[in-house]
Amino acid sequence: MSRTVFAALFFLFCSILPASGQEPFEKDVISTSGGELEITFLGHGTLMFAYDGKIIHVDPFSKVADFSRLPQADIIFLTHHHRDHLDPAALEQVRTEKTIVMLTEIGARSVKNGVIMKNGDVLDIEDIGVEAVPAYNLIHKRETGEVFHAKGEGNGYVMTFGDKRVYVAGDTENTPEMKELKNIDYAFLPMNLPYTMTPEMVADAAKSFRPKVLYPYHYGETETARIIELLKNIPEVEVRIRRMK
Ligand code: ZN
Ligand code: ZN
Repeated sequence: MSRTVFAALFFLFCSILPASGQEPFEKDVISTSGGELEITFLGHGTLMFAYDGKIIHVDPFSKVADFSRLPQADIIFLTHHHRDHLDPAALEQVRTEKTIVMLTEIGARSVKNGVIMKNGDVLDIEDIGVEAVPAYNLIHKRETGEVFHAKGEGNGYVMTFGDKRVYVAGDTENTPEMKELKNIDYAFLPMNLPYTMTPEMVADAAKSFRPKVLYPYHYGETETARIIELLKNIPEVEVRIRRMK
């Protein structure tokens, strides 16, 4: 290879790498009556929202992103205490003295000075409404017979941004509480097996509470094509697949 060709290839290779050294993350922008809500899909169960000048991290997890290169949080939501959702290293990078951390009772044992939300609690953080929805397994269990996520330990969160309601379910199955949710515009439902839902369980939940947009997330190796197939006759629910393995 001539030196010129080598130099040209080297330049090309460098120019396609993102400057930060991490993957360019997918983003969606949603318009709400309170202004734009930008969603960054960091991967796994991890999301970042930007709304009304605030940065909101959900379950920041070091394995999916370099949090030292992401904006620090005004608000952090932790759904439960498992390490891929409550990661002390990622928290240290995005939490400042002013960050409000919303968490569960078990999460509060290791993360200090957060705001505990129990299942069913409702509160406002400035202009964002928050409801804690129970997140738990009904069927999927460990070999010991215990469910992976026991009722009362984990939260999903419904966050209200202006006129839009966004539900991040956490690690859960299609519980009665989920199926009774009302007026959800955007829903993030997990399909990581065996810990959370099969595509059939996700479809069952989506048929009940009918989110306008369904983002399967935290889906691991589960085939996302299956959920599209299962909901193809329910046009009111738009399924959007993003990189949330
Ligand atoms: Zn979990
Ligand atoms: Zn998980």
